[in-house]
Formats: sequence, C-alpha cells, structure tokens
Amino acid sequence: MSFWDRIKPAPKPVKATDVQLAPDSMRLTLTWDDGVHTSASAQVLRQQCPCAACVDEWTHQRTLDPNRVPADTRVQALQPVGNYALTFTFSDGHSTGIYPWQLLRDITQPQG
Ligand SMILES: [Zn+2]
Repeated sequence: MSFWDRIKPAPKPVKATDVQLAPDSMRLTLTWDDGVHTSASAQVLRQQCPCAACVDEWTHQRTLDPNRVPADTRVQALQPVGNYALTFTFSDGHSTGIYPWQLLRDITQPQG
C-alpha cells in the first residue's frame, strides 16, 4: 500500500435526512445529508429488493424477475430500521426487504 492510498479519506457513509412518499404512493423522494435529492418509483424499489426471496444469498443472483413487477406498484408503508435503513410494504404485499441508505442512494436517480 502506497503513502497516497493510506491518506485517502474513507468514503463518507451517506444518510437521508428526509424521505417523502408521493401522494399517489408511486414515487419516493429522498433528501441526503450532502444536499442531493434523489427519487425512484415504487416499481424500481420493488425490483431492487435486496431480501433473500429476491436475491440468492450465495450467488447474489437476482431471482426476482423485474418484468413481473407491475408499473403501478405502490409503497403502502415505509418504516425506518434503526438509523441505517428503510423497509417498505409494497402493494403486492412484499415487505421483507431492508434497504440501507447506500443501496437507496445507488438505486435512486438524482433530481434536477
Ligand atoms: Zn424481496
């Protein structure tokens, strides 16, 4: 390891400071502690579900077919998990995914 590698700052963990669900429950908007706003549809959130039923634990292959997640998927409920993640209840009844902030940051798109 070189000198420069050692003094590189560790990547700062991201954290959302505000979470807004659209009135139609089909889009989630996040405000991050670095001032960035991102959003994703409930469909995308459902497609990216990280739970063991949707992603194979060992191979990390996605077993959920994204084409089977309808475009009109809604978030029926959302709850914080400690201060590191969110969990959603989707309109198809699925609620086992835990979405850490970094995953949410990765799967949502920056807003203009
Ligand atoms: Zn899942």
